[in-house]
Amino acid sequence: MQVLKFGGTSVGSAANMSKAADIIRQAAQKDRTIVVISAMAGVTDLLLQCGSLAAAGDESYLEKLQQAEQLHLNTVKELIPATQQSSILSLIKKQCNEIEDICKGVFLLKELSERTIDSIVSYGELISSRIVSARLNTLNTDNTWKDARELICTDSEHTHAGVDFKRTGMLVEDYFYVNEASLTIVPGFIASDPNGVTTTLGRGGSDYTAAILAAATEASVLEIWTDVSGMMTADPRLVPNAKIIASISYKEAMELSHFGAKVVYPPTILPVMRAGIPVRIKNTFSPGHAGTLIQNEPVKNGSDIRGISSINKIALVSLEGSGMVGIPGFSRRLFEALSHEKINVILITQASSEHSICVGIEENAVSKAKRAVDKAFDYEIKTGSVEPLVVEKQLAIVALVGDNMKSHTGISGKMFSALGKNGVNVRAIAQGSSERNISAVISVNDVQKAINVLHEEFFESTMKQINLFIAGTGNVGSKLLSQLRQQQQYLQQELRVHVRLAGLANSRKMLFSNDGIDLDKWEQLLQHGEAMDRNTFIETIQSKNLRNSVFADVTASADIALTYDKLLPKSVSVVACNKIACSSAYGQYTKLKSLAREFNAQFLFETNVGAGLPVISTLNDLLRSGDKINRIEAVLSGTLNYVFNHYRGEEDFATVVQRAQDEGYTEPDPRLDLGGTDVMRKIMILAREAGEPLEMEDITNHSFMPPSCMEGDVENFYSEMRRHEDHFKKMYHHAAGAGRKLKFVAKYENGKASVGLQEVDPEHGFYHLYGKDNVVLFYTNRYPEQPLMIKGAGAGAEVTASGIFADIIRTANV
Ligand code: ADP
Ligand code: ASP
Ligand code: MG
Repeated sequence: MQVLKFGGTSVGSAANMSKAADIIRQAAQKDRTIVVISAMAGVTDLLLQCGSLAAAGDESYLEKLQQAEQLHLNTVKELIPATQQSSILSLIKKQCNEIEDICKGVFLLKELSERTIDSIVSYGELISSRIVSARLNTLNTDNTWKDARELICTDSEHTHAGVDFKRTGMLVEDYFYVNEASLTIVPGFIASDPNGVTTTLGRGGSDYTAAILAAATEASVLEIWTDVSGMMTADPRLVPNAKIIASISYKEAMELSHFGAKVVYPPTILPVMRAGIPVRIKNTFSPGHAGTLIQNEPVKNGSDIRGISSINKIALVSLEGSGMVGIPGFSRRLFEALSHEKINVILITQASSEHSICVGIEENAVSKAKRAVDKAFDYEIKTGSVEPLVVEKQLAIVALVGDNMKSHTGISGKMFSALGKNGVNVRAIAQGSSERNISAVISVNDVQKAINVLHEEFFESTMKQINLFIAGTGNVGSKLLSQLRQQQQYLQQELRVHVRLAGLANSRKMLFSNDGIDLDKWEQLLQHGEAMDRNTFIETIQSKNLRNSVFADVTASADIALTYDKLLPKSVSVVACNKIACSSAYGQYTKLKSLAREFNAQFLFETNVGAGLPVISTLNDLLRSGDKINRIEAVLSGTLNYVFNHYRGEEDFATVVQRAQDEGYTEPDPRLDLGGTDVMRKIMILAREAGEPLEMEDITNHSFMPPSCMEGDVENFYSEMRRHEDHFKKMYHHAAGAGRKLKFVAKYENGKASVGLQEVDPEHGFYHLYGKDNVVLFYTNRYPEQPLMIKGAGAGAEVTASGIFADIIRTANV
């Protein structure tokens, strides 16, 4: 004997039923077969709605009923040749009349008992299984339809009845002994109590029907035919990267389904496990796919865990109080109170101080639980030795499942650090003594993020996804976007990192996309985006709550710099080429650094100094390895270097500055470069990174600019420079006359920093510094005389973008 079960989607339309019937026809040629059929997809829900509408005195239950009837009639008309339709059509009409009669009674009485609910929903399976049977007849596949209520006997707990296995076993054995049909079609989900009253086995219960019949007939295999190609490493609706599990143990499958993997109804596994019957999960829409095999000894999958699942709508209830310490019996009374109310306990934790016991239950049982427990501990609550039950809602459980976990260390460490890095707060933890399951209770809002984070962490063949939000699409921003596009493939292949552009903004527009913004078309897409609003942009990043979120600030905006402290506490890493945050008040700079540390985010700003040159990362490497920075000397302005390398006293100084701006080397406001402010900010950032609490006022600026150039706007700045051309000429000739070059040098030593123009000799290290290059010399304990030197292009959109890019990848820790 073999047992095949077809789920709601597999019989959800005429086309699908026809596929299912083909599979049945072929299977039945091999062995005696029992086929269990679910209601057509959506029908159970529709019938439940009919019941509640009728009970509420709402006549629209008739429309719903009509909808259900039409669905079935249309399916038959499409599926079965006209000449053979009449008997099944009249059967459907008769059964729909019965549902209508029951609902009419409910409507008149305005009362809907669980017993009545069962009798209403039972028609879903009764009708669908009849249609499948009729379809098989038209294919000349002989079959017998058998009412499950005559085979499966339960108690009278309507809507979730408990099976009487002994009696069921006898009924099934007798029936299949006497009846020799090679193919039997049975409606799933429904059963009857000892008085013959219709009961149901709980939502999703057709799987259970099939398992009960498989166990009772000692079937050789149970096949669950559904709409996915097997049990997957995570719910595919939450994790697009979820993979089919080829092989899994009964216990793992049971654990996964108990913790939310809807693909099999949790009680299903037990009867087949006891009887040692292998279970295959197969896809009706891809019958060639091997699917999942559930059995005793699964094949190893190369990972310590087999799957991840989650259940929403969980509440934690905690019993706390000093009166509980060391006194036995508190937990017994707590669980008795809960079990008396038939409240299902999903998870339990108790700290060894015994000061509190914390229990995870379904959210809809919370008020019952609170009432029952507070009553049970009435005396203790009154005397103050125990607090009234504390209730927390809006929670979910995520669980890692795998038989192999028990022989491996470090799994929970990995689990909680991955969650922590993504700002997922864990409210409670439980690990069964079987070590087959580690569960964490988290906020319902974090579920999708948490499951994806864990999936990336434990199934190493999957990609790590970075969810990137970029503000700024100017020179540097657009270069960054094109580098991202070029590197996508390399990152995925070599680093297994997928950078998904989840949001993009410039000063005018902003745009978000759940699938990632197409990097080939970002310009058009952004043009059609909504109007930029800074607060909305930041709030959206927060509320999307995506794993490995990174915000890249490629603007020079002070307003944007003010948003970092809203993102870091949400564990969103910040990559800034904007220097404003790091060069604002020292307190603000340290606040951002400590927020990053506290919330496991990264705050990276390599491009603040020397564009793409590895200046800050080198400095940090020196410090981390125990070196000490004694002196820094540097040429840190690509703009000024460019200007002094090109100015010969022939062409106007202003013209050379204008060219530097046109070529994209200057800050958006070139006065910041020429006046020395930009270099001051950079040396200050280096000093701060070296541990010096420096402020801008502490830095001496020996400016070479005539003050009037700096007093008006940018236009005035250029015209004043032209007016002072002689001043610049004189500076140049003074240096050139002595065979020297002009360099704008920044220095830091003994807690003091200064910037200013310097004439350098040909022997000086700074003399041979061309184009827009920067150079930084670190004099440290390890590099006392010959400094560590970093030199290269220190300005330009391409190199700056590449530095931001590197910081973004750095956040992934790959
Ligand atoms: P059926 O109607 O065939 O019984 P269900 O809807 O009850 O099908 O179960 C199949 C669905 O379960 C899939 O479509 C999938 O969306 C969902 N699902 C949730 N978790 C998992 C998982 N871990 N593996 C596979 N499917 C899952
Ligand atoms: N039709 C029932 C439900 O939707 C049982 C099942 O499909 O397994 O819950
Ligand atoms: Mg199901």
